[in-house]
Amino acid sequence: MFLIPLLGLALASEPRPAADAPGEAMPTRTWDVEHLHLDLRLSPDDRTVRGTSTHKVAPLPRASSTIRLHQIALDISEVRVDGAVVEGWRAGGDFLEIPLGPSVPHEITVAYSATPETGLHFRGERGGPDAVREVWSQGEGEDHRHWFPSWDYPNDRFTFSIDLTVPSDLNAQANGELRDKVEVEPGWTRWSYVMDHPIVNYLVAVGVGEYRVWDLEGARIPMQVIAPRSLSREQAVGGFDRAVDMLPFFDDLLGTPYPYPNYRQLIVQRFLYSGMENTTLTLMAEDLVADRPYKTTEQAESVNAHELAHQWFGDLLTCYGWRELWLNEGFATYYTNRWWEHSRGEPYAAARRRGLYDAGLASTRPMAARSWSPKNDRPNAAVYTRGATVLHGLSVHLGREVYDEAIQRYVAQNQDRLVETDDLRRVLEDTSGEHLGWFFDAWVHGAGAPSFRVSHRMHAGSQGDPGRLEVTLRQTTEGVVWQAPVEIEIGTTDGVLTRKIWVGEGAAVLELELDEPPRWVLADPRRAVLAHWTQHQRPAQWIAAAKDSPSWDGRLQAIVALGEAGASPEVHEALISFIDDDSLEVKVRELAAMSLGKLESAEASKALVTHLSDPDFKVRRFAAEALRPFAGDPTTIRAVERVVRRDPHPEVAGSALSTLGEIDKGKALEQARRLLRRRAGPDDEPRLVRAAWVLAAHGDLSDLDLLVRWLDTRTARDVLLAAAQATGRLLERHHDHNDIDRARRRASTALIPSLDSPDLRTRRTAVFALGRAGDETAGHALRKLAASTTLPTLADYARDSARKIRSRDRSGPEEPVKSDLQELRDRLDAAEKRLEELERWR
Ligand SMILES: [Zn+2]
Repeated sequence: MFLIPLLGLALASEPRPAADAPGEAMPTRTWDVEHLHLDLRLSPDDRTVRGTSTHKVAPLPRASSTIRLHQIALDISEVRVDGAVVEGWRAGGDFLEIPLGPSVPHEITVAYSATPETGLHFRGERGGPDAVREVWSQGEGEDHRHWFPSWDYPNDRFTFSIDLTVPSDLNAQANGELRDKVEVEPGWTRWSYVMDHPIVNYLVAVGVGEYRVWDLEGARIPMQVIAPRSLSREQAVGGFDRAVDMLPFFDDLLGTPYPYPNYRQLIVQRFLYSGMENTTLTLMAEDLVADRPYKTTEQAESVNAHELAHQWFGDLLTCYGWRELWLNEGFATYYTNRWWEHSRGEPYAAARRRGLYDAGLASTRPMAARSWSPKNDRPNAAVYTRGATVLHGLSVHLGREVYDEAIQRYVAQNQDRLVETDDLRRVLEDTSGEHLGWFFDAWVHGAGAPSFRVSHRMHAGSQGDPGRLEVTLRQTTEGVVWQAPVEIEIGTTDGVLTRKIWVGEGAAVLELELDEPPRWVLADPRRAVLAHWTQHQRPAQWIAAAKDSPSWDGRLQAIVALGEAGASPEVHEALISFIDDDSLEVKVRELAAMSLGKLESAEASKALVTHLSDPDFKVRRFAAEALRPFAGDPTTIRAVERVVRRDPHPEVAGSALSTLGEIDKGKALEQARRLLRRRAGPDDEPRLVRAAWVLAAHGDLSDLDLLVRWLDTRTARDVLLAAAQATGRLLERHHDHNDIDRARRRASTALIPSLDSPDLRTRRTAVFALGRAGDETAGHALRKLAASTTLPTLADYARDSARKIRSRDRSGPEEPVKSDLQELRDRLDAAEKRLEELERWR
C-alpha cells in the first residue's frame, strides 16, 4: 500500500506521463446525442425492465457511419433507424454498434429487455429487511448501461423524457415535470415525465414504489419529499424540509436561481450511498431518516445541502469527464459547509472544515491530473475533501467577496455546459486580476501537500526600544518546492495582528516590532493552505489562541495542539473549561475532549468520566470516545462498562462498547456477547454493529454462532454487514484453530445466500467475508458468481476470494499460506477501505 503514495511523489517531480490515446480515457464522440426518450415497463416484483430507448442524434463534423452506444447484457430484439428496421447492428462487451448511413440527424430506437444487476436496484423482496416494494436507479459512475442503451459518459448532454408503465398501486418518479398519467390497461399506469434542460446520462433517474408524496410549503418552486409509505410525514420530511430555506440561500449566494421546474427528494431503501443528485430528483438513503427516537435530522440536512448544491455544481455545470469530478464533488461539499456556516454558525463550519482538511491531506493522488488516463479516471475521495478545502483556501486568499463574485460569474457563464478546471481558474483570474497557476498546479493538478515548520522568537528591546518578534516558516517538503502565501496571526495584549508572507524554498521570516512577547502566534489561522504543519509554542500561548483567536479554525488548531502539549494543571483547566461550556458548539467541545484524552492523565480521565452522565447524548458519546487511551484503568473501565449496560442512547452505548474494546477487551467481549445473544429491539442497530466489531477483533471461534444469527437476510443491513465482516475477520484470526473446518462450513452456509441479495453492498461484503471465512462450497459459489455476473469488479473480487480459499486449502502447513494470504489480505483491505470511503460520500 505504501508504495503507491511514494511513487505519486516521485511522479510529481518527473515529467508528466504521456496522455492515453484518444478514446482511452474519454470515449470519442462522432454523433451528438440531442434527446433520449425511454418507453419502459417496470415493476419491482420481477427484477426486469423492458421497452424501447429512442436517441435523437445529429452528426458531428467527423461523424462516422456507425454509432456506438453503451450497453451491458441487454437482450436486444430490434433496432430501428428513422423508423426502419436495420440489420447489421452488433452488441458485445459493453457496447452496441449501429449502422447509421448518411451524416444527417437520425432517430435510433432500440427494443430490448434486461434483468440488470446494477443501474436499477430492486427492493422489497420476500424474506428481505425492506418495508415496501420499490425499484430505483443509480447511474453514477457508468451503471445506466445495464438497463438502457446510452451514451454513458459525461461528455455529452441531452434533454430527456420517459413513459414509465408501472403497476397501478405504485408511485413513479423521474427527472423533470410530470406531463401525463394514465391507466393504460387494468393494473398498469403510464407516467410521462419531460426534462427540458440538457443533462448528462448518469443524472437520468427513476423511482417506482409504494411511496407517499409530501409537499413542502413555502418554496418558490414545487418541492416534495417522496418516501416509503411506512414512514409518517414527520419522519419523512425531517431534515429534508430544510431545502425550503436552502434554496433562497443558494439562489442568492450563487447569483443564478435554481433553474429547474421543481425539486424532489426521494427516500429509498438500502441505497448504495448517502444521496445522489439526479436533476430535480435527488435520491436519499433511508438510513438518513430520523425514524427512531435516538436519530437526529443533522445527517439528513447535511446530505440535503450537498445534493441541492449539486443541482448547480454537477447538474447545471457538469464535470467534463471523471477527471474533473472535483468540480462536482468539491463544490457540493464546500457549499454544504457554507450552508452550515449560515444556518448553524462559524464554529460548527470550522469543525467540519477541519475534518475535510485532515482527510484532504491524506490523499496521495492528484485531485484532477492534467493527463487524461483511465488511471486518473478512478474515483478518488479527495475530490470531496481536498476539493472543498481548496475552494476554502481560494476564498481566504482572494477574499470572500471576490471569490463569491467570481463563482457567480463562473455559474452564469457555464450554465448547461461541461466544465473543466481551466474554466474555473480563468474566471477567478479575470475577477481577481491575479494569475493562480501556482495554486492550481500544486493543489489541484498536483499530488500530496507541502510540509512547513513554524517557530517564533522574541528579541527583547533595550533602552525603551520595542522588542522584535521573528516568526520563521521553514519548508521541509522533500522533493518538490511549493509556493504558498501564508497568513501569520499574532495575539498581543492590545489586539490581534495579521500579516501575510510568501513561503517558497527554504525559510521565510516575518519580523515585527512588539513591546512585549506575543500572547500567541498562529500560522495559517484560517487553514487556507492545505499542508502538514509543525509548530511548537508554550501551552499558555496555545491556551490564549484557543480562547481568543478571531478565527475559529485557529482556535480549533490550538485546542488540538493542546492534546500534544503534555499534561499540566493549566492545560487540564483550559481543556476542561471548553468541555464544560455548554454554550459552545458541541463539535468544539468534542475536539477539546479528544485532546484531553490524549493527555492520558488521571485528571483527564476523571473529567471525561463525569461527562458520561451529561444530559446531552452528543457529550456522553464524545466523552466515551475520548476515553480510549485509558487502557487498564479500573475507574474508567467501570464507568464505561456502566454506559454500555445502561445508557438509553444506542449510539452512546455503541461508542462506549468500542472504547471498552480498547481499554478492557474481556469486559467488552462479555458485553458484546450479551448484546448479540438477546432479541434485538428497534433501537439496537448501533449497539449490535459495535458488538460485532468487538467479536471481530477479540472474539473466540465459539462466538461464531452469535454472529451467524445476524446473517439472516431479514436482518437490518448495517447489522448484517457488520456481522458478515466480523465473521470473516474472526475466522481469519483463528485460521489455525482445530475446529476451523466446521466453523468455515457453518459460515459458508450462512453467508452464501447473501451472494444473491438484490443489494450490491450486501453481495460485495459477502464476497469479501467468504474469501476470509469460506470453505470449498463457498469457493464453488464464488466461482459461479464470477462466471455469471455482468459486473467486472464483483467478478474480480469473487475470483480473488475463491483463489484465497483454494490457496489456503491447498497450502497445508502454515508458512506459505501466510505470505500469499498477507498479500491478498492487504489488497482486499485496500479495496474494501476504498469502497467504504467512497460509499460515505457521493
Ligand atoms: Zn456529491
